[in-house]
Amino acid sequence: MGTITLNQVTKSFGDVQVIPPLDLSIEDGEFVVFVGPSGCGKSTLLRLIAGLEDVTSGEIVIDGRPATEVPPARRGLAMVFQSYALYPHMSVRKNIAFPLRMAKMDKAEQDRRVDHAARILNLTDYLDRRPGQLSGGQRQRVAIGRAIVREPQAFLFDEPLSNLDAALRVGMRMEISELHAQLATTMVYVTHDQVEAMTMADKIVVLRAGHIEQVGTPLDLYHQPRNVFVAGFIGSPT
Ligand code: ADP
Ligand code: MG
Repeated sequence: MGTITLNQVTKSFGDVQVIPPLDLSIEDGEFVVFVGPSGCGKSTLLRLIAGLEDVTSGEIVIDGRPATEVPPARRGLAMVFQSYALYPHMSVRKNIAFPLRMAKMDKAEQDRRVDHAARILNLTDYLDRRPGQLSGGQRQRVAIGRAIVREPQAFLFDEPLSNLDAALRVGMRMEISELHAQLATTMVYVTHDQVEAMTMADKIVVLRAGHIEQVGTPLDLYHQPRNVFVAGFIGSPT
């Protein structure tokens, strides 16, 4: 299960409220994209869900349990960042296995999970290399592998492709969509790129200044934008 519900969630930094009261439901297996201009609160929302930040008020419920009852490491959520945060001195295998080593998982089970993730991500031939010997796309796949081996209830992606060049981005977009089709795991994906949102999402959440302008399928938003902001944002590339 990978349902995530936000009930009247707010977030302030000091006196500044960056997320006004917000309600949102994410269903099990859904691919949900948060899209909006830079600074609108996408990363903050994802970090609240991941438990990397505490809500100021309101409640996040994950699989029916209030998130405050479950420590972040036990929420079954795996985050993939834009900066891959790979360890340069470790092999690809060790980088992918890192969270499992930290959890002191049995070595044979670690290897089984890493081999499985490597097959899904076409990294089998690269497991003995170091990150510096990989292309940008391969490094991003290693970062995704590190999430896959945790067998999470949901993946949280924060602009994972923004460091890649345009051609690679198209390929990785398709790979992440295929990964979603294969694993059928909930994915919450943050981007400021309308094309990514329109091509990858089951459901798009359009954000502006911390609040939701509209939630809908790509077709809903395209054909029935609720206002000029949504129409302009979905309609015109940045
Ligand atoms: P996005 O990911 O959509 O670009 P962010 O969630 O990073 O936006 O930021 C939303 C707003 O919150 C911005 O105005 C940003 O400056 C502010 N913000 C984010 N993190 C912090 C923080 N740790 N302290 C103070 N302000 C923050
Ligand atoms: Mg961000």
